[in-house]
Amino acid sequence: MKEKILLSSSKLNEDYSSLDSINIFESKLEDYLKNDKKAACLSSGTAVLHLALILAGVQQNDEVLCQSFTFSASANPIVYQGAKPIFIDSEKDTWNMCPNYLEAAIKNRLAIGKKPKAIIVVHLYGMPANMGKISAISKKYKITLIEDAAEALGSRYKGQKCGTFGNFGILSFNENKIITTSGGGALVCKTKEDKQKAIFLATQARDDAPHYQHSEIGYNYRMSNVLAGIGSQQMEVLDKHVSLRRKMHQFYQDLFKDVAGIRVFLEPSIDYFSNHWLSCIIINEEVTGFSREDLRLQLEKNDIESRPLWKPMHLQPVFKDCLYFGTQVAETLFEKGLCLPSGSNLTDADRERIANSIRSLVG
Ligand SMILES: *Cc1c(COP(=O)(O)O)cnc(C)c1O
Repeated sequence: MKEKILLSSSKLNEDYSSLDSINIFESKLEDYLKNDKKAACLSSGTAVLHLALILAGVQQNDEVLCQSFTFSASANPIVYQGAKPIFIDSEKDTWNMCPNYLEAAIKNRLAIGKKPKAIIVVHLYGMPANMGKISAISKKYKITLIEDAAEALGSRYKGQKCGTFGNFGILSFNENKIITTSGGGALVCKTKEDKQKAIFLATQARDDAPHYQHSEIGYNYRMSNVLAGIGSQQMEVLDKHVSLRRKMHQFYQDLFKDVAGIRVFLEPSIDYFSNHWLSCIIINEEVTGFSREDLRLQLEKNDIESRPLWKPMHLQPVFKDCLYFGTQVAETLFEKGLCLPSGSNLTDADRERIANSIRSLVG
């Protein structure tokens, strides 16, 4: 059969531009996530979150409950929709959304007749949030649950993969995530209809007509086939990357085992399986005699990157006018916590350098 003559094709090499790449990547994700989930690949995790909010019906002046202790990309799309974020503190066990403050916030808004439109819970640093309680609250109050699993591909709560609990789940394949397409993301959803609607919006919302016909505002958010091809390959190394990250986490557990005043962030119980995307520690300065900033600068001197934990959204200048429900859990984590090198490519020599640098301060 002769190939169709197209209006304006600038085809790359067949191997890279195969239209199948994106379907293959999506079905690999669906097989991996199980629970009969559908996946739609988009240009970034942020774009996925934006479309999830649109699918959840979030509009101008609506309110959306969002974990405060996170990366700004969890909250920014709320503002893209003209809606208002309300930030929720973390719980001490998982560092993720506190179910008690979540419910307090919902009750507070219901009391003034303003039902929140969605909940955005995050599995930060790969640690699953308390999905038993968070899912129950979302069902009790019938509020759409959006699960930001950008950092948590490969993590599980009670054996179920992160990203598959909510009405919508968000994955990211940005450069720094557990697997990468250099840039990209995927929406995880429950039905074929939601997946099709997401793809429709992500490809400029074209109605079914021979000419270009639009009844809705669309976006250019679809993942490119070239990147989807890379994503398919990356699925083959996902389990290996998870075990390498967990090995780094074990390395830090051993390193700090006998150090008073430094606590490695651990899974709170057997219900939680973290991909340990980043390994984090909490430094109690009163015991150690040095702060997280002292340790960061020490590592920096030896050309080793580390970073304070996320600065909570309710403390960010850009969100200063937003409502906040909680106390100082997230704030304290930000003050005392440090993320340590956790990459899947670190060598024994790298680990030795890290250990030596830390020991020169810790003693
Ligand atoms: C990386 C990340 C995102 C955004 O993903 P991008 O693909 O970079 O747009 C959202 N939320 C969290 C928690 C992230 O870490």
